[in-house]
Amino acid sequence: MQFFRQVLSPLGLFNCPVYRNQDHGRLGDMNAAADELAYDATRGKTAQLIRDFNATTSCEKVTCLYNDVNWWVEGLIENPAELKHLRTDTSADPDYFL
Ligand code: SF4
Repeated sequence: MQFFRQVLSPLGLFNCPVYRNQDHGRLGDMNAAADELAYDATRGKTAQLIRDFNATTSCEKVTCLYNDVNWWVEGLIENPAELKHLRTDTSADPDYFL
């Protein structure tokens, strides 16, 4: 979920609500999406963190709010054919936003 949802605060932009204001979750400062140049740098940092972040160790003692949706996204990555079954209307079940 750190690709889709990040936490912006005066302290900076972070990969997850759990890691706000912790250096290992920092994606940028409070201007991380202020303009195209900053946003490009933030996207690069996000991609690097997604590649390097190991939730099985970093989050082993965390109650993850996104556990279900993380596994759902993981299932889509492992089974890309499932992507064609995603619905774009508001009656989709499960609700992709949540
Ligand atoms: S696994 Fe959960 S707690 Fe850990 S970074 Fe991802 S969303 Fe946050």
